[in-house]
Amino acid sequence: MTIRHHPDDSMLIAFAAGTLDLGQHAAIATHLAACPRCRRLASAMEHVGGAVLENLPPAPMAGNALERVMARLPEIDRAAEREPSPEMAAAEIPGLPKFIRKYPIGEWQWVAPRVHLRRITLPEPSRTRVFLLRSGPGTKMLQHSHTGIEMTCVLSGAFKHEGGHFGPGDFDLGDATVDHQPMVDDGEDCVCLVAMQGDLRLNGILGRVMQPFVRL
Ligand SMILES: [Zn+2]
Repeated sequence: MTIRHHPDDSMLIAFAAGTLDLGQHAAIATHLAACPRCRRLASAMEHVGGAVLENLPPAPMAGNALERVMARLPEIDRAAEREPSPEMAAAEIPGLPKFIRKYPIGEWQWVAPRVHLRRITLPEPSRTRVFLLRSGPGTKMLQHSHTGIEMTCVLSGAFKHEGGHFGPGDFDLGDATVDHQPMVDDGEDCVCLVAMQGDLRLNGILGRVMQPFVRL
């Protein structure tokens, strides 16, 4: 697997510091599970961050800061020892990291023609909604932008848009400044893990007609 699109350094730093919203944290961890390069970077940042925290003078606020950071870090290596739950084993989502499989995952729901999603329930409340999105081969999504940050991790299949071509392991970031129309490659379904804040904003006449019906 050749990974061409990575989260930028500021996101990896925020991940290592444990300051990301939990849903975004899960999206970055999903990328790390597939990407040795970013795993090395995040691990180096964790060590630096840990050393900084350890050298801080004791303060009531910082009492268990390091512990809390560590508790939020998905156990990428140790997760490999865990058995996935039977429901998820049955789901057979290629590329879905094991730490995500321990969270409750809903049934596939229809979103739009040839597009379905499964919601992932995180262990604590998050401003970010996390779901699996499956789009059929050749699906052309409606031109859209975002009112918040959307992180997309490709698990299987591929899509392209103005920002490039995205295959398994690739990470894509959308926000209010990005206006794009992804198109899924021919040949196989594309399944992504998506961490989304805010809403999609559909463009064009068809988009405005569809907008009330699209709830991700
Ligand atoms: Zn990477």
